[in-house]
Amino acid sequence: MTAVQPKHTAASVGDTFDSLSPATDEVVGTYPVHTDADVQAAVERAREAARWWASLGFDGRAERLRKWKGVITRRLAQLCQVVRDETGKPIADAQLESVLAIEHIAWAGKHARKILGRQKRSAGLLMSNQAATVEYQPLGVVGVIGPWNYPVFTPLGSIAYALAAGNAVVFKPSEYTPGVGKWLVDAFADAVPEAPVLQLITGFGETGAALTKSGVNKIAFTGSTATGKKIMAAAADTLTPVIIEAGGKDPVLVDSDADLDAAADATVWGAFSNSGQTCIGVERVYVHEKVHDEFVAKVIAKTEGVRAGSDAGAKYGPVTMPSQLAVIRRHIADAIERGGKALVGGVDAVGDRYAQPTVLVDVPEDSEAVQEETFGPTVTIAKVRDMDEAVEKANNTKYGLGSTVFSKARGMELASRLNTGMTSINAPLSFAGIASLPFGGVGDSGFGRIHGPEGLREFARPKAIARQRFTAPIALTTFARKEKTDALVAKLITVMHGKR
Ligand code: NAD
Repeated sequence: MTAVQPKHTAASVGDTFDSLSPATDEVVGTYPVHTDADVQAAVERAREAARWWASLGFDGRAERLRKWKGVITRRLAQLCQVVRDETGKPIADAQLESVLAIEHIAWAGKHARKILGRQKRSAGLLMSNQAATVEYQPLGVVGVIGPWNYPVFTPLGSIAYALAAGNAVVFKPSEYTPGVGKWLVDAFADAVPEAPVLQLITGFGETGAALTKSGVNKIAFTGSTATGKKIMAAAADTLTPVIIEAGGKDPVLVDSDADLDAAADATVWGAFSNSGQTCIGVERVYVHEKVHDEFVAKVIAKTEGVRAGSDAGAKYGPVTMPSQLAVIRRHIADAIERGGKALVGGVDAVGDRYAQPTVLVDVPEDSEAVQEETFGPTVTIAKVRDMDEAVEKANNTKYGLGSTVFSKARGMELASRLNTGMTSINAPLSFAGIASLPFGGVGDSGFGRIHGPEGLREFARPKAIARQRFTAPIALTTFARKEKTDALVAKLITVMHGKR
């Protein structure tokens, strides 16, 4: 079947481009395509702003971040409408991601001093005449490159933490959601009018590439694995450090003692909400053979009534990126050709704008539908003889972003055996809403962490300081050192570490 390509893609017209609604193809905004020179100028402005922002200290920044979160909260309905216009997702979903993002701004501002402020360290016995401290200083300017699927929650996971750590930020949102990016940056400027601490640049991949090589002190990228690799290669030229938050193929494990209703509900919501366009969305399920059939029946029952569309009754919206429709179709077709069965949906469930839910069983583990990120409203369910097999199969992909375990007795054990950056037990995706937990992946899902204390430290450089408190009775770092001293040191170290 030939894919009908809809028009709803960001369109470039000279030095501007249009942002189009994926639900209607209507133009919802026009934005500049920023050039290398524009990006460079923004980074220079940011350098100046970063000095002022850093000089405010933790308390001055926390106060301004509080103001920003207040502005966003009071104008929440407006923000949700912009998200809906550019992504087509239901207003309630836009609200959920924005609420979680507000929580992150609040957490980052409130905790930055405690986590990044000066901390004492033990100097050890040999160096006991020294006072040791470490403090986490801002990097300077951070470039944030974002995706379109959660255009509020995802970039703010980097931006809020980078700002709280004392950096200025130059933000390049996806070409599919420049309006959401502009809205967030404008709200910041209303709360912090003194200096361009958070700036917007818009455009396509070339603008993102210009930011990568602009000399910023770190790039925080969220998007596909393929783009992440390009960014890392380009950043090597200037030795610019990068955080890569990339794709996933997240599994759910369902144990024989699991609450099957809860597991089925989490699977259906995790796989189909936001049209499956969730980096930590559910793509695969491994179910203990004792409960497999009952679980599958529950998933099918719960999928009834879950429908894509743009009317009030629809549970999720369109596929935002037209090129993804072909990927979703290809994964389903390949699964079926290789012996899989679609218990709900199938290739015809994928239209030219909306994709209806698809539930696949009996799909070979080495097929694309199990190994590659589908990023659509599909899920594969496989029967396993025990949870060891479930863990082995869940770990057998190149990705390792999130995962979920449903088990009454073995939740913690199974969670720690999963080779992913995050796991939630007995509820879907809960780690993403807990601001104190680090977020990030392993393998092709990327590296580095946003959120939580680890997320704050990503955007700071540890500065170690050793201050001599008094002259040491045994001087070690001098040419005037005596043989007697060396003998004493040898004796001391033997007493301290030489025990068998
Ligand atoms: P994408 O890689 O196509 O684009 C992401 C951003 O990178 C866009 O702003 C784009 O303009 C920019 N870009 C493209 N080429 C570039 C280049 N050469 N140099 C610099 N920037 C460049 O990704 P997408 O389609 O917008 O997002 C979907 C992907 O994001 C999925 O794979 C999803 O899993 C992933 N994602 C991951 C997370 C996470 O936290 N791990 C969160 C959300 C989305």
